[in-house]
Amino acid sequence: MFRPDHIFDTAFEITSDLLEKEGIKAVIFDIDDTVVPHGSERPDEKCQAFINGLKAAGVKVGYISNNPLKRDPFFAPLFPLAHKPSAKGFLALSEKLGVRPENCLVVGDQLFTDVRGGINSGMKTVKVEPITGYKDAFIACKRVFEKILMKKYKKEIGK
Ligand SMILES: [Mg+2]
Repeated sequence: MFRPDHIFDTAFEITSDLLEKEGIKAVIFDIDDTVVPHGSERPDEKCQAFINGLKAAGVKVGYISNNPLKRDPFFAPLFPLAHKPSAKGFLALSEKLGVRPENCLVVGDQLFTDVRGGINSGMKTVKVEPITGYKDAFIACKRVFEKILMKKYKKEIGK
C-alpha cells in the first residue's frame, strides 16, 4: 500500500522517455530532499537544468510540500502545507496543471507522505533517496520503517 512504481537514487534520473512510455503528462515533485537539500529556498543549477529540461519536453511540473517555508518563484505552482499523504494538494495540482491524476507522476523521498499521497490520489509514484541526511526525530523514525519496506519493494520491483 506504500509501494512506489519506480525506485531511483535521485529525481534527476527521470527521463522524458520514461514519462512518455508511461503516459505521464505532469510531474509533481516533493521539494525537500527530493529536488533540493532539506529547507533550501532556491533551486540549484542542477535542479533548474533538470526541471527546465522536462518543461522543454512538454511536461507540466508542480510542487507539493508539507513545509510552510516560502520558496523561490521557480517552484511554481506550489501547494504548501499540504498535509501529505492527504490527496487534497495532489488533486489541486492535477487540476491546476490540467492533467488527470492517472497521467501525473509523484516524485518524493518519503514513502509515508509522498508515495502514499500519490497513491491516495490515483497517481503513479517514484521514490528517490533523500539528498541529505536531514536530522529530525520524526523523519528519522519514519526512515526506520521506510528502510524495512524499501528492502521488500526493491526486491519486488527487481532493483
Ligand atoms: Mg521530502
